[in-house]
Amino acid sequence: MSRIAVVGAGPAGCVVTHRLVSAGCTVVLFEQGVGLESAHSARSSMHFSDALKENELLDSSSYVVDAGANALPYLRGRGVGGTSAINAMVQTWGCPDDYNQWERIYGCTGWGWSAVREEFQNLHMGSSRALHFGGFSHDVVNAAQRMGAGEVQHGAACADGAGSVALSQVDGKRLDAFSAFVLPLMRNANTAELLEVRTQSKVEAVLMEGAVAKGISLADGTEEHFDAVVMCAGAIWTPLLLLRSGLFGPAIGRNLQDHPSVSIIVQLAQNVEEIVPEVTSLVIASSAMGESNIHLLPVNAASNGSGMQFAQLAAAVTKVSSRGLVKEVNQKAEISLCSLSTNDDAEAMRAALILASDVLASVKENGSVLECYVDNEGTRLHELIAHDEASMMKFVQRQLGAYSHASGTCAMGDTESDRAAVNAAGAVFNTRQLWVADASVFPDIPRAATQLPTMMVASRIARGIAQQLA
Ligand SMILES: Cc1cc2nc3c(=O)[nH]c(=O)nc-3n(C[C@H](O)[C@H](O)[C@H](O)COP(=O)(O)OP(=O)(O)OC[C@H]3O[C@@H](n4cnc5c(N)ncnc54)[C@H](O)[C@@H]3O)c2cc1C
Repeated sequence: MSRIAVVGAGPAGCVVTHRLVSAGCTVVLFEQGVGLESAHSARSSMHFSDALKENELLDSSSYVVDAGANALPYLRGRGVGGTSAINAMVQTWGCPDDYNQWERIYGCTGWGWSAVREEFQNLHMGSSRALHFGGFSHDVVNAAQRMGAGEVQHGAACADGAGSVALSQVDGKRLDAFSAFVLPLMRNANTAELLEVRTQSKVEAVLMEGAVAKGISLADGTEEHFDAVVMCAGAIWTPLLLLRSGLFGPAIGRNLQDHPSVSIIVQLAQNVEEIVPEVTSLVIASSAMGESNIHLLPVNAASNGSGMQFAQLAAAVTKVSSRGLVKEVNQKAEISLCSLSTNDDAEAMRAALILASDVLASVKENGSVLECYVDNEGTRLHELIAHDEASMMKFVQRQLGAYSHASGTCAMGDTESDRAAVNAAGAVFNTRQLWVADASVFPDIPRAATQLPTMMVASRIARGIAQQLA
């Protein structure tokens, strides 16, 4: 029976491990960060913003260097569960055409909507809606619906609408990918003997013998041999580890995509008393540049005991053509997102901000919101919108953030090119026994928060590996 190294215990690595062990393979799951400790149950009920303060769960090894901005940290999780242990838990799939295009434009046979939908349905990731919407989310959704938005759809293809979103939660507590997919294997005597989870084990590179992956080397200098290696270190580090391993395909580390977003700071009329998850709802809208390509994501101000007076509204573009790259500099990942580098993306972002401004103006009418700012220096949203197009976009480039949905840096395709680093089964071109099974392989980022799409991809690639190796 094959013995396989899975590198990274984020959503991708946890799903791959689950599928391979369930198929009878022996797996060693390597994770550079910490394991589950007693603090875990406390973490699972933490607010999103509090989770982001847990240094132990954050990877500080990547930074963004984009237009005009100083180097800014690029958020990723580390430790079992990866970014699923700290993210906003929103569950979306994307639009059918996102995946049909993978097949039609990028030559990824087998990744069309009907196959992908079945894979999503078979993931069985726990899910529930927030019990309480939160005042700010409620106001934003009501305003969008007054402006004509329908209900947002659930667990299915995207369509314009406004409403609550499904969250990776069970009984009001975060469900990270490790708890959902790996813990059950560890608790079952039949599968536990096939699995070893090595935390605080940083993989340095893949050991290559010619074109064949023979194992991995660790940061402490040790080497270990395996029958196959599956890379799940996330879209920032997976390509960099491949480059370190002497694999120099022209697409490795390139074609990086993320969803650009601008964060609008919203001053509320009253201090917040309620305790709700910060993200509970979503507005999906279309612009002249495409269907369902805008997200407005309300972030409730979570009560921290003293009450808070500020919420946020993230205005994001979810169908993008801009592409950046990642490279390693002094053992850190230097990221150029190149967001809004195409006219279509810039236009869509302008439309997202205008929509956000209209929705917030409507919310303001009920008196719950006092003012909306687009920076920390007091620039008001309506002042930004009043600018001519060129100066508005110049300002936006300076304030631009991202959803942290990195993908595409080892993209799938039918043949190796400057667009494709792995084939439609996730196997690295010109190698044997080496696969990539995380968000790196997306040929084009879907109109979705990326955790579920990443798990879907991991699941499908792992099935293929299991068929070949089990
Ligand atoms: C702040 C934030 C909020 C988000 N909110 C949402 C949301 O609400 N909904 C949603 O769908 N998506 C969200 N996302 C995105 C989503 O979490 C990611 O798309 C998803 O986690 C990607 O999974 P992954 O397994 O590819 O990578 P990751 O989650 O990044 O996991 C990679 C793992 O590999 C480990 N690793 C890396 N290098 C090594 C190495 N050399 N050796 C060993 N281990 C290594 C890391 O420590 C990490 O545990 C959010 C992301 C962020 C940053």
